Amino acid sequence: MSERFGHVIDGEERASLDGAEFDTVDPYTQQPWATVALGGAAEADLAVASARRAFDEGPWPRMGFAERGALLHRFADLIVANIDELALADTRDMGKPVADAKGKDVPRTAQNIRFFADHARLSAAETYPTDTGHHAYSRYEPAGVVAAIAPWNFPMMLESWKFAPALAWGNTVVLKPAEDSPVSATLMARLALEAGIPPGVFNVLHGYGPDSAGSALTEDPRVDRITFTGESNTGRAITAVAARNLTPVSLELGGKGANLVFSDADLGNAVDWSIKAIFTNAGQVCLAGSRLYVQRPVLDEFLARFVAAAEALVVGDPKQADTQIGPLSSKAHHAKVAGYLDDPSGKVLTGGRGEGLFVRPTVVVDAAPDSPIQCEEIFGPIVTVTPFDTEDEAVAAANGSRYGLNAMVFTENLSRAHRVSARLRAGTVWTNCFFVRDLRAPFGGFGDSGWGREGGTFSREFFTEPKAVVMAI
Ligand code: NAD
Repeated sequence: MSERFGHVIDGEERASLDGAEFDTVDPYTQQPWATVALGGAAEADLAVASARRAFDEGPWPRMGFAERGALLHRFADLIVANIDELALADTRDMGKPVADAKGKDVPRTAQNIRFFADHARLSAAETYPTDTGHHAYSRYEPAGVVAAIAPWNFPMMLESWKFAPALAWGNTVVLKPAEDSPVSATLMARLALEAGIPPGVFNVLHGYGPDSAGSALTEDPRVDRITFTGESNTGRAITAVAARNLTPVSLELGGKGANLVFSDADLGNAVDWSIKAIFTNAGQVCLAGSRLYVQRPVLDEFLARFVAAAEALVVGDPKQADTQIGPLSSKAHHAKVAGYLDDPSGKVLTGGRGEGLFVRPTVVVDAAPDSPIQCEEIFGPIVTVTPFDTEDEAVAAANGSRYGLNAMVFTENLSRAHRVSARLRAGTVWTNCFFVRDLRAPFGGFGDSGWGREGGTFSREFFTEPKAVVMAI
């Protein structure tokens, strides 16, 4: 019998009012492995009411930063102590290699919670000496009830980028995990309660997006902030609904990352990072370096090494410790990704469809600049490689996308590294590396990649109501 996972509302794990449930399917076995409560408007109403009560009447927003921070650190400790169960939940839900879940997702979730707890505790506010002899200062007060709506690609880790700063600044949260990766959210909510975080502070609501739990959350006027990570079109839909209540929305959306390899790059380093940039998590990464541009003098050598490295990746059962590439997250997502290979526009050098829900690491050359494979977010292990001659041409190609989440630059020329980084239309530019995240730095995108930034003081701006206090003295 499959294990059951409920919503967590007001400190209780509970079924939906009508008993509705859905199965979460392991994409490797393609069999259901757990049963999850399926929420709708009624359960969203309960979850928001619980978060509202905990905010308006409970101790959480009124606690000192040190006390709240201690509870968040205890929560992080419990996450680390339960690493095996948490990692396996994400692996079974969406096919992520368990080595990645244990090596990155779970530890980074704990780190995110610790960072934001400490950041809030150590933050200072401003004072403004005035010419008129008044004393003015700012206060950063919690915004209220936060609806956090998350995608399935790094389930718990991306959820923690939202709930950790929201909680650290004294808000209460309703987290709606993606329907393809629901289990770790319930596991985390159980641990939050065990850590002593008061009931109603961290609620988990399961369900789908449109006409379901997700849309009900975005329509609720008692919600003070909506933080969303997911597809650009979903971001548009959520923003349109949120506008009715003027609820502030933060959007971390899709990407089509450009990866520029100049002929003066350390080629071994460029190959290593470019492989990670596109094939980590089977390419199901908003930051994926899915458009590779290589300067012509090194194109042949780069391609030979890159294709060999792609073919050496271990594809298989994500529950095996040595697996590097698992299946895609679901049947529907596999159909979408593999569909790009029906008409790849260019020539497939390696890869293609695999067994079951697998797509093998795929390298395509000579794709037309306006082809779907070159322009659309595929969210799978497929990369296009395009040659360029000049720096201007590379920058223009990189910027020729409606997305602008991130870009990578590989060069050993310091001036070029700074010059190109400044010219790229991207929220993050990684030079000679990839995926390194300092939680104080801004994270977010230009254009269709989103609105607003997460991280350090950027998260504080979103999850608080900054207030000015002006005193005559
Ligand atoms: P998605 O937009 O389909 O779903 C994301 C979440 O939104 C899910 O929880 C879903 O149930 C919910 N949802 C869907 N429609 C909704 C609606 N109308 N109202 C309220 N909630 C709704 O995205 P996905 O397929 O889960 O994730 C993949 C996408 O996420 C990719 O485009 C990827 O680039 C993006 N992503 C972005 C970042 C980033 O930081 N910028 C990080 C990871 C993923």
